[in-house]
Amino acid sequence: MRTPIIAGNWKMNKTASEAGELVAALIQPLAAVKGVTKVVCPPFLAVPQVAQLLQGTDVGVGAQDMYWEPSGAYTGEVAPEMIREFCDYVIIGHSERRQYFGETDATVNRKIVAALGVGLTPIVCVGETLELRESGRTEDWVTTQVKGALEGIAAEKVAEMIVAYEPIWAIGTGLAATAEDAEHVIGNVVRATVKSLYGNDVAEALRIQYGGSVKPANAEEIMSKPDIDGGLIGGASLKAADFLSIVEQSAKAKGIA
Ligand code: PEP
Repeated sequence: MRTPIIAGNWKMNKTASEAGELVAALIQPLAAVKGVTKVVCPPFLAVPQVAQLLQGTDVGVGAQDMYWEPSGAYTGEVAPEMIREFCDYVIIGHSERRQYFGETDATVNRKIVAALGVGLTPIVCVGETLELRESGRTEDWVTTQVKGALEGIAAEKVAEMIVAYEPIWAIGTGLAATAEDAEHVIGNVVRATVKSLYGNDVAEALRIQYGGSVKPANAEEIMSKPDIDGGLIGGASLKAADFLSIVEQSAKAKGIA
């Protein structure tokens, strides 16, 4: 059985001191939930403090983005080893990065290769726009994104990665995909594509999250689907009680608690 993983993407929210307060509220209650991988992804400037506060706990820390070069004249960018010093995870190819900062399947692939090279676990985001969905192109689009992201990556690495299926129209809108729709794309498109590329064992090992307006009110239903291995949580991860509730409900939905 795959261990579910709930990751909070704080996006461009929380100063370092605000991040410290949120983490302080999460540490004890999150420690009580076993059998779920828990991760928080603060903005870069809060990462060192959050990592220090979470030392010795089972809550992981992730970055929200990363550049692929190891060092050099890339003003404003953050290198893989810099992130590795504090983090175990890194979100790659979030739709906001693709939409606002010009990321493509090719740059996403370079970032994944670089992240794996320093021992970071990439959380790779894929998902379609509303226009693509309404024109019936979700499956082709997501298949192309998955193939592009994984180009040239060895099977044993893929098995350890995380993919987050995040339909763009559901992110930050309050309009989550139905559990059935999310399960369909995750199982029949993302996992099926990985199976066609790498075989059944890798596809069955890969953890695939759903992301897009997950909140306490819909978490249990979404997480109860067998192909959905957790969630990437935006807005609801900024409130300790909501994030905790989603983690608890995921454990319950998977029969862990
Ligand atoms: C996200 O940013 O990855 C996300 C899923 O956001 P929200 O939960 O706010 O829709």
